[in-house]
Amino acid sequence: FKARWWALQKTKSVCSYCGTGCQLTLGTKDGKVLTTVYDENQGFHNGQLCTRGRFGYQFVNSAKRLTTPLVKKNGKLQEASWEEALEVVTSRLSAGKSDPASVAALATPRLTNEELFLFEKLFRGTIGTDNIDHSAGYAHAALTKGAKASFGVAASPSEIADIQKSNLLLVVKSDAYETHPVIGFEMNLGVKRKGIDLRIVSDKKGKLTRLPGAKTTVHTPGSEVALFNALCKSIIDQGLAAEGVAGLAELKAAVADATAEKAGVTAEEIAALAKDYAAAEKALIILPIGLGYPGHDAALANAAANLAILTGKIGKEGCGLLIMGEKNNSQGAADLGIYPKSTGLSASAIIEGCGNGNIKTLFVAGENPVVSYPNRQKVEKALENVEFMVVADLFLTETAQLADVVLPACSFAEKSGTFTSLGRRVQMVRKAVPAVGLAKSDFEILNTLSAAIGGARYNNQAEIFTEIASTVPAYQGLTQGKLGDEGVVLPVTVSAKLVPAVAKAVAPVAGKLALLTGSALYHSGTMSRFGEGPMYVCPTAYAELSMADAASLKIAEGDMVTVTSATGSVQVAAKVGKRVPQGTVFAPYHFGEGSVNSITDGAAVTYVTVAKK
Ligand code: SF4
Repeated sequence: FKARWWALQKTKSVCSYCGTGCQLTLGTKDGKVLTTVYDENQGFHNGQLCTRGRFGYQFVNSAKRLTTPLVKKNGKLQEASWEEALEVVTSRLSAGKSDPASVAALATPRLTNEELFLFEKLFRGTIGTDNIDHSAGYAHAALTKGAKASFGVAASPSEIADIQKSNLLLVVKSDAYETHPVIGFEMNLGVKRKGIDLRIVSDKKGKLTRLPGAKTTVHTPGSEVALFNALCKSIIDQGLAAEGVAGLAELKAAVADATAEKAGVTAEEIAALAKDYAAAEKALIILPIGLGYPGHDAALANAAANLAILTGKIGKEGCGLLIMGEKNNSQGAADLGIYPKSTGLSASAIIEGCGNGNIKTLFVAGENPVVSYPNRQKVEKALENVEFMVVADLFLTETAQLADVVLPACSFAEKSGTFTSLGRRVQMVRKAVPAVGLAKSDFEILNTLSAAIGGARYNNQAEIFTEIASTVPAYQGLTQGKLGDEGVVLPVTVSAKLVPAVAKAVAPVAGKLALLTGSALYHSGTMSRFGEGPMYVCPTAYAELSMADAASLKIAEGDMVTVTSATGSVQVAAKVGKRVPQGTVFAPYHFGEGSVNSITDGAAVTYVTVAKK
């Protein structure tokens, strides 16, 4: 970089990519982020960062950042002043107050807690619409709902620190190194230094399965609930259930027909895994979630929770369930009500509403539904149809290009506030550099709009945190000052209740491959696609096939292939490797071009054909 480290100004903050919540120190000079400074005393992770945390900050300085508001005139987005842009948005939102059901709002869980709280207050409180959601509504919200039913808490009942305190880790999916790399490092440390037993149940042999000693059970795509039900049945059949577990008879009846076969594994594998899990003094189940894993819903959290509850592995250190929230503030979004309440529309229903004309005004803060939500064609058509859409974002994303007004927003490095990690740790994000161009933080944008349409107005974001602490029970008594450098882990009181989980039937489709989606390096791609580091390592979308399928389809590494589902097709380069089982094909979901989400429809498993172009 362009300056000696001692010449840099250093600001402690939090990585804005995934829910792990790694702390980092931004090294800045002349108003630019030049590096992240390694500090081994920082955070639970001793200063370690993954590629995204270490190099992914480059998106902050990207020349592609939006620097001025844009307003659509004569069908084209044109530069405008903040006054002009906000006037247009204010008049639309004011009109929306008399017909709140026609207004919807989507917020990225990358915003700070303070911004999310204000967002919720503006749309639910001042405008009166319940049509509020975020991308985590596709997965995180469902799993935390499951956790609430099973444990009485809409969050991970366990903390990241429980990884090192456990004797056995049962990890669902094998992409932790891609989705939450520092949690991957934590598992690595635990396995190598403490001999923690690592068990993985996954639909493919991702990087995590290469850890020495890791034992992997490869199951049929989409059969995670069936697999956990089979494990629960095996625990009961082998007489391994803890004594006095309430609801055991009901669960026994509910899993009576659960078989290993339904998950595509052998009865011996299930019996052995159940026995080892039960025998471990402390065992932690780790569930990865996010847009890349369609079909992960409340039932998966319940099924996994049942296994922990049946064997008494809950409410103790090193035990329980860790839900790996996808984005940096997925947990904050859940805590602060960024989801539809009883009468509101979910993210997918909001898209439907835009398509059928029921939603007339859509406010999008940092989300990119065109790329990251399932079924791209449908999303694009719906967003083209909505009468008025405003997008606040860092870049002119595929969604922003369809907007009527685009507002340039600040990155995490240009603002202060708090994020809540997947381990329920609330931490301070601190402003390190001035805003790029005329960009404003989402706090400033929402605060101005709120005041303009008769809602609340705050003097600064810290004032909102004070209000959060007085209205959201889990945050009670906190102040930003109390968070310090370490942050504070929100307390939870865990109860335990067996909640039978219904497994959806999944069966291979003759002549087709099961499409597995997930992250490569990029996460959801909204920021990382604008960083040189990630783009250098993995520049384009791809589809990865097993050697056997590649041979029978006469496809070689690097060939361009067409992947076709019932909803469309994409052309991408082929990869051939050992980690993808025969009968499946893996494709990352976050690229704009060749985005695999353009051919998925939100079902647990999408079946496709793959042919050489
Ligand atoms: Fe950032 Fe997640 Fe990587 Fe940590 S693991 S540095 S939070 S992307």
